[in-house]
Amino acid sequence: MAIYNPKSLKAEEFINDAEIRETLEYAEQNKNNVELIDKILEKARPKKTATGYTCSGLTHREASVLLACDIPEKVEQIYQIAEEIKLAFYGNRIVIFAPLYLSNYCVNGCVYCPYHLKNKRIPRKKLTQEEVKAEVIALQDMGHKRLAIESGEDPVNNPIEYILECIKTIYSVHHKNGDIRRVNVNIAATTVENYRKLKDAGIGTYILFQETYHKESYLKLHPTGPKHDYDYHTEAMDRAMEGGIDDVGLGVLFGLELYKYEFAGLIMHAEHLEAVHGVGPHTISVPRIKRADDIDPDAFDNSISDEIFAKITACIRLAVPYTGMIISTRESEEVRSKLLRLGISQVSGGSRTSVGGYTTQERPHDTEQFDVSDQRTLDEVVKWLMENGHIPSFCTACYREGRTGDRFMSLCKSGQILNCCHPNALMTLTEYLEDYASEDTKKVGYELIKKELLRIPKDRVREIAQHNIDDIMNSNRRDFRF
Ligand code: SF4
Repeated sequence: MAIYNPKSLKAEEFINDAEIRETLEYAEQNKNNVELIDKILEKARPKKTATGYTCSGLTHREASVLLACDIPEKVEQIYQIAEEIKLAFYGNRIVIFAPLYLSNYCVNGCVYCPYHLKNKRIPRKKLTQEEVKAEVIALQDMGHKRLAIESGEDPVNNPIEYILECIKTIYSVHHKNGDIRRVNVNIAATTVENYRKLKDAGIGTYILFQETYHKESYLKLHPTGPKHDYDYHTEAMDRAMEGGIDDVGLGVLFGLELYKYEFAGLIMHAEHLEAVHGVGPHTISVPRIKRADDIDPDAFDNSISDEIFAKITACIRLAVPYTGMIISTRESEEVRSKLLRLGISQVSGGSRTSVGGYTTQERPHDTEQFDVSDQRTLDEVVKWLMENGHIPSFCTACYREGRTGDRFMSLCKSGQILNCCHPNALMTLTEYLEDYASEDTKKVGYELIKKELLRIPKDRVREIAQHNIDDIMNSNRRDFRF
């Protein structure tokens, strides 16, 4: 029997089934242990330091106890601490991005995804480079600066060369004042050599959802295709890091398996990356299974309520305080609104989840990977965020300045957010307001920027930010290194 070892490079040892089961038992036994829960909450709370805040995070066992706990007063405290952590390390910034679907050709058999090979009802489509260009122009015209490219797995139709060519095309498009400054990549698990090619192509984060950490379920949910190999899939992030990619994004598809199992597996995966590579995941996404062609979410009996979903999000925030958290337009405005307070730091806006979706008037449902719940435009999302006290940020400076992996983490840990990310967020928001926003959004935006500038503690940094904002408003200058 495999033994639990977070430092091992073998999936069955770092995501160890016996350890997860023992963790769940331990959590169940202690879910009403107020003394222990208080101790864990105290450990999770951010502590003030001379330069900012520090936070120790939680082990998968500790975080699982909090997730199991249903004492209302303690759950409320979990939410409060999640909010404190979010504000301490990310401030009120929310990073904005959009997905870009390149191809829905796929040789896998994932039973929860409409792109699975056996689905003959949907048209298969792969963007040409001209079409990629047109999609990028449409995204730039909305105001996007950061994309996550998505593609099915198909070595014939979407080989790595195709993905690399698309990345090159995306970075080459400069339409009016627009450019895409960070391309994150969400493609199937691949080889170290291919990860190295992605790194050389200048990608931001490599994102790969585990879908489920439960091996037996995983094998059933992925009955055919290369993705059937649980170990190869689970060990992908180690290969990505070996290939030089130091920002990786984890996620599970909640609803496929019991959420407590998935949660423990997810935190163990983060612990493993930290133990082996010295840096945890850059982001964690929290998607829930949604309706799509050929897919009925009710067919999966592990679906979770909005309440549980919020608790999962908050507990992840407590366990891995320095990791960015992403929520997509799979979720409604109402759910996104609640989760933003509990630790989410990135949202997508104005998204189309179909191949070629940004250049068509209507949403082309036939190639959609999932139903979009939040169908508002980017302008509406930006305005809504600002009205709720968040700063939508289009900043990509860390990645462009080489502050990735542990260098980004140390910036985050040293609490330099207000002197670094905050002014950058305000400057990139100004760019957005000037170039793309409606008059209403502009009005709300400039009021917010005026207030938020005053929160920058260092006088000199505030002066520079003000100067750059004036520059952006008064000229076409867009050559800052955001
Ligand atoms: S989830 Fe990904 S790998 Fe699976 S069928 Fe869909 S596109 Fe293919």
